[in-house]
Amino acid sequence: MLFAEGPQAAGHLAQRAMERMRAEAVAPHPHNFTVWYAYCSGRYPDLTRAVDIIASNGLAFTEARCADLYHKFFAADDEIQAIQEIGVKLTEALAGVTGAVASAGSDVGNFGAALKVFQGQVDLSDTLDQLRGVIRAMTEQAQRVAVRNQFLQTQLSDSAQQLETMRRDLDTVRREAMTDALTDLANRKQFDQALREAAATAMEDGRPLCLLMIDIDFFKKFNDNHGHVVGDQVLKLVGRTLKDSVRGRDTAARFGGEEFAIIMPECTLDEALAFAEKTRATIANRRIVKRTSGAAIGNITLSVGVALYEPGESLGRFVQRADEALYMAKHEGRNQVRAHVDTEAAFV
Ligand code: GH3
Ligand code: MG
Ligand code: MG
Repeated sequence: MLFAEGPQAAGHLAQRAMERMRAEAVAPHPHNFTVWYAYCSGRYPDLTRAVDIIASNGLAFTEARCADLYHKFFAADDEIQAIQEIGVKLTEALAGVTGAVASAGSDVGNFGAALKVFQGQVDLSDTLDQLRGVIRAMTEQAQRVAVRNQFLQTQLSDSAQQLETMRRDLDTVRREAMTDALTDLANRKQFDQALREAAATAMEDGRPLCLLMIDIDFFKKFNDNHGHVVGDQVLKLVGRTLKDSVRGRDTAARFGGEEFAIIMPECTLDEALAFAEKTRATIANRRIVKRTSGAAIGNITLSVGVALYEPGESLGRFVQRADEALYMAKHEGRNQVRAHVDTEAAFV
């Protein structure tokens, strides 16, 4: 987040943000404040547009909508903060290890020097008593080093444990950054990355690569009829169905809103069409039941567009062709699968 206003300008913006939150009946907690302060600052044109669209549609700024706005525009900041926190912990753990190793090094060095002195004393010892004294001193010195070593071992094992915790934290942050929170599918960021990799591999090994764009039909009406909460459950259901039906090398992603995408490497157009048709039928035959009452609320359907990658075409063009096929499926009555077969335009 980048805000560079001085105290006075920031004060004005904060005041305007508070006034607007009051007017919209929004709770002024820190996340909402961030959204509205940013909105008033005008520094986030996309956020401004999103807020203005909600307002111009006469929709209320519910807690869920505000949370969505925060998540969409500022969650990346949370991610950066999480990474920074792990970085600080890592530095501390490393400083601990370095310090322990350094002090162990000097202990061992000192012990080495002491041994040399003892060696000289042994050579000069004439009596048993003298020798006994030298041995006692050596034992004490060795014990001191042993105690230090034990301390060092504990410190090292603590540090190893800390490092392991951090590795797990980092894995979680990385996973969350690449996953759609509602459906647990790959998010747009992971989709983009997976598509880049899949296209590069397809160009290298010459094997077919297909892309499916999937959109729920008349979902706005579904939400209007049954509410957003049930709508969200349906998105989860579609997400789970896609996840369960893809092969291990495929990437099922939430492309945005009620749109999904599946990247299918090593898959011919015919195979992708058959898969799309099977998925369409599975969802269409699913009876949607209201979780709270158990009452049946009908079915939902999907329209699907499929495209086969033309080696060398831009990824934007590839996605656009799958989208055009999806548009055809919508245009021709929805609840169906269409392929993009125009290969000539592929090299544009
Ligand atoms: P079409 O068959 O042409 O795709 O019609 P549609 O109503 O599905 O398409 P439109 O793009 O007009 O509306 C998409 C709707 O999807 C609008 C919005 O209410 C709903 N939607 C998008 N994201 C979410 C979400 O995260 N949760 C819920 N419940 N609904 C969502
Ligand atoms: Mg739709
Ligand atoms: Mg849509």
